[in-house]
Amino acid sequence: MKAIVYHGAEDFRFESVPDAALRDAGDALVRVTRTAICGSDLHLWHGAGLPLAEQGFAVGHEFVGVVEDVGLAVRGIRKGDRVLASCTTGCGTCAPCREQLHSGCTVTTANGAQAVFGFSAALQGAQAEAVRVPFADVNLFRIPDALSDEQALFLTDILPTGYMGAELAEVGVGDVVVVFGCGPVGAFAQRAAQLRGAARVLAVDLDAHRLALAGARGCETIDPSREDLGARVLAATGGRGADAVIEAIGRPELIQQSLLLVRPGGRIAVIGLCAAPVQLMPVLLFLKNLTLSSGLVNPQRYVARLLAVIESGHLDPTEIITHRLPLADGVRGYELFARHEDGALKVVLTP
Ligand SMILES: [Zn+2]
Ligand SMILES: [Zn+2]
Repeated sequence: MKAIVYHGAEDFRFESVPDAALRDAGDALVRVTRTAICGSDLHLWHGAGLPLAEQGFAVGHEFVGVVEDVGLAVRGIRKGDRVLASCTTGCGTCAPCREQLHSGCTVTTANGAQAVFGFSAALQGAQAEAVRVPFADVNLFRIPDALSDEQALFLTDILPTGYMGAELAEVGVGDVVVVFGCGPVGAFAQRAAQLRGAARVLAVDLDAHRLALAGARGCETIDPSREDLGARVLAATGGRGADAVIEAIGRPELIQQSLLLVRPGGRIAVIGLCAAPVQLMPVLLFLKNLTLSSGLVNPQRYVARLLAVIESGHLDPTEIITHRLPLADGVRGYELFARHEDGALKVVLTP
């Protein structure tokens, strides 16, 4: 079969790989119908932040598809089901999985393995014609007939991630919320803040096109290279400071800045992947009674509720798609997304 394969930084290739196949009794084999390029795939593309010893594996962890085969132990998923997958995989029975912290599953992360598709040969990625999904009963979800593949696609990762940001930041009715980042995850964090009743969402980015899209979804937009972000936040809150900040980029200096932007008792959620060390002033957390939280998403926790929101028509996740390409042009998709070329916000690939 064909897949987008990792050979090193900025060296991804569309090439033939061995066919995906069942390995364990809990596995399903999924024929991929739509897959997407994620900001965390760009960490591999740029060769930064994630130490990888091996090469030659298929990348990608956002996908939907049709079940082609299941192992003997699979009970809830059948051949022919149209499914979305969780990007982080759990066994469903270990202690972290029972707490719905599947990304910390002691089985799927044993011996230093990654719980996320597409970062190692042990769990091949989904920018491919087909993919093996371990513990299918835990990590696959049937897509309701009323929803298209594209409407369900972002439930695999970035929509739950954005929602988790608003949940960790305890966004509630009437809040003023700052969201750092107007990329795909930032966009869904903004939508989630609105769904949870935020009165005002201040969207921060340096990219004029992405700011314009955030404005169109009802956010007030700020380019901090052109105006004073702190002053805008104070003006929006009667001098109090923001109720919550969601950091959806992963920049160390923005995490520190968040401590300054929130009011006493404010909440900060970091959902951007930040691999660099951060200089923090803990005294601000102490004196202002702040809450700072972060986490790798566990979509299993959110899929059912967010599916209901999409089905009700209150959220259309396809709003962020800017490019649709055949899988064969996937490497071009990486270039577009990495350089923000041609207004690229989210690139969807079809095998
Ligand atoms: Zn992702
Ligand atoms: Zn587990």
